[in-house]
Amino acid sequence: MMKIGLYGGTFSPPHLGHIRAARCFVEGIGLDKLIIMPAGIPPHKAVLDPISNKHRLEMTKLAFSELGEVSDYEMSKDGASFTYLTLRWLKTQYEGKIYLCMGEDMFLCLDKWREAEEIFSESHIVCLKRENSAYDEVENKKKEFERMYNAEITILTYEPLPVSSTEIREKVKNGEALEDLLSDNVATYIAENRLYL
Ligand code: ATP
Repeated sequence: MMKIGLYGGTFSPPHLGHIRAARCFVEGIGLDKLIIMPAGIPPHKAVLDPISNKHRLEMTKLAFSELGEVSDYEMSKDGASFTYLTLRWLKTQYEGKIYLCMGEDMFLCLDKWREAEEIFSESHIVCLKRENSAYDEVENKKKEFERMYNAEITILTYEPLPVSSTEIREKVKNGEALEDLLSDNVATYIAENRLYL
């Protein structure tokens, strides 16, 4: 059976932490295909980060060109994009097993997502855990989700790259150097289009 990964995020901008994470998902699970899904930004968040969907989509394509396929499904639909709906759509597009991939911050609150029960029953969850996580919050959550939802969960450990999109947006605004945080093509795109200034 084909193993299809789904990796969503805001990706404003996509950074080397995201790229390293995507590589871990592909290699750790042995995915046949990774679908990268930039989220539609809800209006209340767009005030803080007014970068258009077009720019986020372009940057996401540049960042992940060698790792997967970028989809504009969530961006191009009206209204909020909920993961359970994206999973329903993905099932109409591909035959295979769906692996929903995420970082540990997202994993820890997964039971609060809309229609969490459906998410657990329709996908295999893949969580990236920082190698140096001090305590076993992630393992405890895994056990809880398995017990409560009969969930299928794989935890992959990786060497963390401590970078966030928020940090990058602030650095661009302050004119600080971005070395080692972004792929070169995304850094060039941001500069050429004068984003996040
Ligand atoms: P922001 O700072 O704007 O909140 P972010 O850097 O956290 O953004 P998102 O687009 O929100 O990026 O993240 C998408 C996914 O990537 C989430 O599942 C998140 O857990 C994961 N992720 C974010 N940063 C890293 C990182 N440095 N290493 C591994 N995974 C990451």
